[in-house]
Amino acid sequence: MKSFDVIIVGAGPAGGHCARQLAASGIQVLLVEQQETFAANNFSSAVTPLETLAKFELPDSIVGSFWNELVIVSTNVRKQWESSTPVGAVLNFAKLREFLAGEVTRNGGEVWLGHRYLSHSSDRGQTVVMLKPKGQDAIAVRTRVLVDATGATRSLMYPQRKTSPAFLSGSGIEYLIEVDESTYLSCAKSLIFFLGYQWMPQGYSWIFPMEKNILKVGAARYNGQHQILEDTYPAIKQSIEVLIQEYLHLDSYQRLETHGSTLHYRNGLQDIYYRDHVVAIGDAVSMVNAMGGEGIRHGMASAQIASEYIQEYLIGRRGDFADYQHHLHREFKRPWDISERIAKKVYLQYSDRRIDQGLAYLGVLEFSEVIELLFYYRFENMTKGVRRIFLSKLTGFWQKILQKLGLSSTIS
Ligand SMILES: Cc1cc2nc3c(=O)[nH]c(=O)nc-3n(C[C@H](O)[C@H](O)[C@H](O)COP(=O)(O)OP(=O)(O)OC[C@H]3O[C@@H](n4cnc5c(N)ncnc54)[C@H](O)[C@@H]3O)c2cc1C
Repeated sequence: MKSFDVIIVGAGPAGGHCARQLAASGIQVLLVEQQETFAANNFSSAVTPLETLAKFELPDSIVGSFWNELVIVSTNVRKQWESSTPVGAVLNFAKLREFLAGEVTRNGGEVWLGHRYLSHSSDRGQTVVMLKPKGQDAIAVRTRVLVDATGATRSLMYPQRKTSPAFLSGSGIEYLIEVDESTYLSCAKSLIFFLGYQWMPQGYSWIFPMEKNILKVGAARYNGQHQILEDTYPAIKQSIEVLIQEYLHLDSYQRLETHGSTLHYRNGLQDIYYRDHVVAIGDAVSMVNAMGGEGIRHGMASAQIASEYIQEYLIGRRGDFADYQHHLHREFKRPWDISERIAKKVYLQYSDRRIDQGLAYLGVLEFSEVIELLFYYRFENMTKGVRRIFLSKLTGFWQKILQKLGLSSTIS
């Protein structure tokens, strides 16, 4: 039976990065993925701020496009921010995962595509893992540490779906479409998000640029009962069509790909982080932000942190992964709790008018403040927007009074 120090199940961003880190440290690693190619399961829009590339040493070859403009459109409000330099990237999700797997083999690890994890059991202090290669009989491999990087399915930590706890969930679908050059150029540098009942009731939709003449057009819905809306709104795909027809005004385009997935998120970071020699990373421990469904860099961050604890475990410096769980809670619990509350309000409670109003508040912020809020969870920036609008209204009020009194306004 083949034996490894660490077996990682799932070659998404989290699993790939964890395997890459461990292989680079000389650990004998096996990365296992059920899909036979990285083009399969290409579900993510893969938007990320610019710092992700440097932080995780990712090459420009995995970037679909760079963006320096953000546009948010609600039913009655439109706000736009622009920077002279790139602020983030839309990654090619397939190329990202392929690159990470390539790094694993380059550093002496093994990558087995087309192998599905079936089960694992303990045997004399080690773990025996059963894998099913496509079209062949199951095989057994031995490991000292097993990693659940299977994303929202959490195949190792919750092998029986029926016994899993209730998860908050959101479902997204995205089309990759080829468009004419002028349509592409009108969106080539922008992340465009759509909120509100007109565009995507109970969720949001988007248009992102990919490689030349290719756009990602998608929509995601937060699952659950809305406080105001009846449960009769259009299917997710219809909301994508609305963007294509009513925003892009396209009569003809070529749909190259349709992909999507459902994210299952455990509120309050109550996931199972470890059990005996098994440790979970990425979406398997809800490393995805509930507000915008952004999880790539957070999954990779959890993988990086886990790889350090795994190395200490392997040399006997740690007996379990309790400190790994504390580490993630320290870093993510506060922003995740607040994001979750905001997500529930915006997607499941707010009227269309409240959404318009929220966007108007956001609109008075500088671009850097909006990025800090959406990507770095500086929630205090939200109150800045409210305060600035309130102050400008107050100023207008006094100016009118002074004018009526025939006094020139000195308030600015
Ligand atoms: C529609 C949509 C759009 C998104 N857009 C963005 C975005 O713009 N930016 C962003 O940062 N995040 C985005 N996300 C979220 C992001 O893609 C995820 O958070 C991220 O992919 C999680 O990485 P992961 O490695 O934990 O899991 P995954 O990427 O889900 O990878 C898990 C892997 O495990 C494999 N696997 C599962 N079960 C088994 C098994 N039994 N045996 C073997 N292999 C198995 C799967 O095939 C998969 O390849 C989006 C998600 C969706 C659904």
